[in-house]
Amino acid sequence: MPRVEPSAFRTQVEHWAAALKVKPTQIRVQRMSRKWASCSPTGRVSFSAALLDQSASFRDYVIVHELLHLRLRNHGKLFAATLAAHLAGNPWVKRFAASAAPIKPSGKARPTRTI
Ligand SMILES: [Zn+2]
Repeated sequence: MPRVEPSAFRTQVEHWAAALKVKPTQIRVQRMSRKWASCSPTGRVSFSAALLDQSASFRDYVIVHELLHLRLRNHGKLFAATLAAHLAGNPWVKRFAASAAPIKPSGKARPTRTI
């Protein structure tokens, strides 16, 4: 049993999309072998189904990170500042700020990075 159901995860994504004022054209949850999430130039956001087994803080982090790419395609200062503003207290934000290196979550999930 996953920690969250796909429908609940989707609701979470929609909640964050509204908060970030972005409108993904499509939200997908699927098997992904290398990454936690990706977004296409057309605004389609895809999330790894393995996220359903991760902690709430990590899910939030990946969702906000990926949705924010609909507004900002790079990992510049504005990206980091906006991420921090929306995820105050989320431990994964500090890891992002400390290093531009790929984020590797704890646990046994295979995907090792967000885009
Ligand atoms: Zn990214």
